[in-house]
Amino acid sequence: MINITTTTTTPTNNALEIANEILELMSKVRKELNLLPPLNGIKRKLPDEDEDVHKRVKLSPSDVNRIYDRNEFLGRLKTYPGIYIYSRRPVSAVACAKNGWYYEKTVESLDNDVGLLSCKDCKGTLAVIDLSPHDPSNPQINKIITIYEEGLKAYHKEGCFWEFSQCNDYVNSFPISTYKEALELVCTQGKLLYSQQHILPNIVDPLDKYQRRAVNQVAQHYEHNKDEAMAIVTDSSLITAYTLPLYGWKLKSTEVPYLQCDSCFQRYSLSQENKSDQFDVIKEHRPNCPWVSSTDALIYRPGSQQGLMNGYGWMLGFVNKEHLLLLEALESNRTALQHLSDKKDALRKKLEEDTKRILLAASKPFTPSPE
Ligand SMILES: [Zn+2]
Ligand SMILES: [Zn+2]
Repeated sequence: MINITTTTTTPTNNALEIANEILELMSKVRKELNLLPPLNGIKRKLPDEDEDVHKRVKLSPSDVNRIYDRNEFLGRLKTYPGIYIYSRRPVSAVACAKNGWYYEKTVESLDNDVGLLSCKDCKGTLAVIDLSPHDPSNPQINKIITIYEEGLKAYHKEGCFWEFSQCNDYVNSFPISTYKEALELVCTQGKLLYSQQHILPNIVDPLDKYQRRAVNQVAQHYEHNKDEAMAIVTDSSLITAYTLPLYGWKLKSTEVPYLQCDSCFQRYSLSQENKSDQFDVIKEHRPNCPWVSSTDALIYRPGSQQGLMNGYGWMLGFVNKEHLLLLEALESNRTALQHLSDKKDALRKKLEEDTKRILLAASKPFTPSPE
């Protein structure tokens, strides 16, 4: 294994010393991993600095497909482990994946794990340090972050597609765009999760009692196909099963079952032992997940270009609408039944009157009409 050690491990408050220490560590890491030249040694012109470059980076239709390719982006994002995502990095996993980088491996050092990234197109590599041991308010840290942000492009080899391109923000946006898709997801996953109710955890969610009632009634409708669901007693397992997909959680593999978010790849294993654990449907998502991050989800509030919503906010709006439709359907059924009943009453009344008239006529003695 590659052994990386730092020359200075004593904490210091001097900003310049810390910055130098980080730069020294970075160059040490790169040297140990044969990733020369040093990070700050590369100077490339970026597209907006050079017109020729503009011509070079003119995107062909297949290039445009690549920058909008959600599956390719998710394939890269999926390779980033929790150790990278949950420590303070100068560049996020989402930013790296948008710039064509796959996670290769973690290289351990004394006080700082290094994430080694690679590009499958050009075989370029980028070693990303962990900033956790350093004071975030230190202004020198910003310089390190800028170096890394530029490095996301600069460390691709010359001629690589990613040298001057990066994915459009669309690739990490909320994956559902119609009510039909939302309905399919909730029905399919709700039924599947309900079938595994014996291992579902206790969930922590921000639903208020009205939203919980809406979820219950919508779930009753789709699970049991009963419109009289309005009167049915609350079933907490059913609510859990239908709430999880509203927050992006899907059931995977029924042999060794677990919950997974297909946008951030966070997982949670389900078992009888975990059943009493608390599962927070929001906090379990990773940072930058469109189900919880409105800046990543890119859903504009209806009629507004400013207010952004996150994925679960949109899904709750969908449930409210479904609930409203159910209530309307129920109301129109009631009206139709009432109408039928009114018609029946009128018919019955008419029959009764006719019968009375016949009986009356029958009871009268026969009087022949005068000739
Ligand atoms: Zn590359
Ligand atoms: Zn997520």
